[in-house]
Amino acid sequence: MDTTLQLIDRAIYTRPNFPKKGILFYDISSLTANAKAFAAAIDLLAEYAKSRNATAIGGIDARGFIFGSAIAYRLGLPLYLLRKPGKLARESYQENYTLEYGTDGICLPRDDAKKGDRVVVVDDLIATGGTLQAACRLFESNGAQVAGLAAVIGLPYAGYEQKLKGHDIHCLLTYEAPNL
Ligand code: AMP
Repeated sequence: MDTTLQLIDRAIYTRPNFPKKGILFYDISSLTANAKAFAAAIDLLAEYAKSRNATAIGGIDARGFIFGSAIAYRLGLPLYLLRKPGKLARESYQENYTLEYGTDGICLPRDDAKKGDRVVVVDDLIATGGTLQAACRLFESNGAQVAGLAAVIGLPYAGYEQKLKGHDIHCLLTYEAPNL
């Protein structure tokens, strides 16, 4: 692992069996609290979005906003907010997705993202890929192209590569299944 990735890796706080048994939780609040590591993560994610010729960034509610907004600012691109249901006053499209227990949804304003847009969608972490899959459906039904999916952390053991097949995925760090 190169030194920049090591810096980012070491800045992420992990807690076993949180919020429930069997989960290793990656808490990025310790990453954003480390100015050097946070800036390094933004630079690398922005480089990726640039390499995909992004014309817009999509940020997932809520931790995706933190990284998405900094990348959009860095590249001078618009930021489209994918919000949890009930938060947007503008007319929006909604996509639901399955969680381990129950379902959740995300919404995108109808006027955001259109034909010709190349959107790089950003979240803090990709696990099953369900959230990003719903985000892709929203952008694609608006006529936009999903140019890439980016996150600080990827957990391939949770299955996102399968679920997001066909998309270009870039995670700064990927981790193996924990032995808790
Ligand atoms: P998924 O839709 O399964 O890819 O889940 C991704 C979302 O759930 C992201 O927004 C993450 O913030 C959160 N998440 C899932 N697993 C973890 C984990 N082990 N540690 C921290 N956040 C997680």
